[in-house]
Amino acid sequence: MSKKSESRRRLRQERQQSGLCIHCGVEPVCELKGCEKCLASKKAVQKRYAAKTPERNRLYFLKIRKDVVEKYGGVCACCGEPRFEFLTIDHVNNDGGVERKADQKAQGRSWFLRLRREEKRSDLQVLCWNCNLAKLHFGECPHKSGTQVDFSPLTLDRRRKVQHEQQKEDGATGVQGFCLSA
Ligand SMILES: [Zn+2]
Ligand SMILES: [Zn+2]
Ligand SMILES: [Zn+2]
Repeated sequence: MSKKSESRRRLRQERQQSGLCIHCGVEPVCELKGCEKCLASKKAVQKRYAAKTPERNRLYFLKIRKDVVEKYGGVCACCGEPRFEFLTIDHVNNDGGVERKADQKAQGRSWFLRLRREEKRSDLQVLCWNCNLAKLHFGECPHKSGTQVDFSPLTLDRRRKVQHEQQKEDGATGVQGFCLSA
């Protein structure tokens, strides 16, 4: 490491130890070792840079997602799908909506950045999109429940309806063509 970067590293360390922003060394830290002002300007620079390099930006986000998926096991916890392109992070108890409502940043890039940074959580798991959506729609993925949707009540309903119409017709003709519904 060069002398310059070594001294910069030490300076940052000193600032961090005394609870000051590692960038300006003046304001107190709010989060991520920086003060509100410095983090905001850093973010603005990043945003401008991201707009100039969309492909790099897209890959960067994919890399964050990939790191998180790998951290959480790297394969679908239900079907074992290992290809990252198919995988996502699932809330085991289906309470992702609650988390997002309480904290707007609990989604998208900032959420994945946080998951990568923070300790592994026990309420999250890796699922493929198929298993994730099936779990959401049917309570349990068909891989696990081994069941299929039972459509027989629908046919029963239709049969009842047909029977009902039949009875109505019989009733109507029963009073010599006088239509009750008119
Ligand atoms: Zn600062
Ligand atoms: Zn799966
Ligand atoms: Zn499944």
